[in-house]
Amino acid sequence: MAQLKSQVVGHQKLFHQWTQLLQREQLTGSFLFVGASGIGKRKAAWAMIQQALCTQKKGEEACGECGSCRRVAAHQHESVWFVEPEGSQIKVEQAHGILHFLQLKSMGSKRFVLVDEAHLMNTPTANSLLKTLEEPSEGTTLILLAPSLTSILPTIRSRLRVFHFQPVPLDEIRQARTVPEWALEASLGRFDLLDSLSTPEVRQFRTQWAEFFVQFLSSPQTLTEDKWRESLKNKEDLKQALDLWLKMVRDALFLQQGEQKSLLTLDVNPQLKKMAEWPSVLLQKIGQDLITLQKELSFNKDAVLSMETLYIQLQSSGEWTA
Ligand SMILES: [Zn+2]
Repeated sequence: MAQLKSQVVGHQKLFHQWTQLLQREQLTGSFLFVGASGIGKRKAAWAMIQQALCTQKKGEEACGECGSCRRVAAHQHESVWFVEPEGSQIKVEQAHGILHFLQLKSMGSKRFVLVDEAHLMNTPTANSLLKTLEEPSEGTTLILLAPSLTSILPTIRSRLRVFHFQPVPLDEIRQARTVPEWALEASLGRFDLLDSLSTPEVRQFRTQWAEFFVQFLSSPQTLTEDKWRESLKNKEDLKQALDLWLKMVRDALFLQQGEQKSLLTLDVNPQLKKMAEWPSVLLQKIGQDLITLQKELSFNKDAVLSMETLYIQLQSSGEWTA
């Protein structure tokens, strides 16, 4: 079964809008699919293209079985040109590839160009596509994907019809996928986050740093252990750890108020429970200090030093009982 739409979670309103345009034969033109990364824009775009190219539609839906549907599902359809960044940008040669594809005479009456991460088009690339985006030839649909409206050059933006993609409501994800509730809440409706939270590596990372945090708050000696001093040197890891700690503080405060729902760190439950036993004034102080620490790290301060300062500040706050 290769019906792509059935694999997309959410975005039903946009599919409805697309179907209406398709019925009225109003797909010639340039579109911008905009919304946070990881919420399914690209999947939806492929599904919409499949629907438009299906030769044996069931009602308004793609059949998923005809040759056309299969080729779209395999990303091998002769009427679809897909572009994604090579390295950190979409280069002008790739724009030339698009223009060449659109000039080919041998194609069917409908053709699609799909540009992923269109905000990474450099200026020459964008400029060489301006005219095509403004006025695509009959039967041509260009779809640009981008994380935000402002990430697209205004000259391009003004030429596009915009489809706004929203994070998928958690209820819809809950129905479509079997995932732990904490991961669902922490994903914020983004599938990339959801998937990353489900890997053993990420779970191990979170457990390890949650344990360090609780230990560290109980004893500054933790900072003198080589293992942790080494780990703290990795700024990227520490940034993610800080994010986790802030969420733990938030959850610990929620737990103190008897709030069990919408916790984001239930995977590190043992450590979270320990934190929830601390006075809420102290937790609030820790939260504030963590935010300060986040800022300091973005100014490239030494992480171990910052953590030591954090500990001293907490000690002197007078709320310390842990
Ligand atoms: Zn089909």
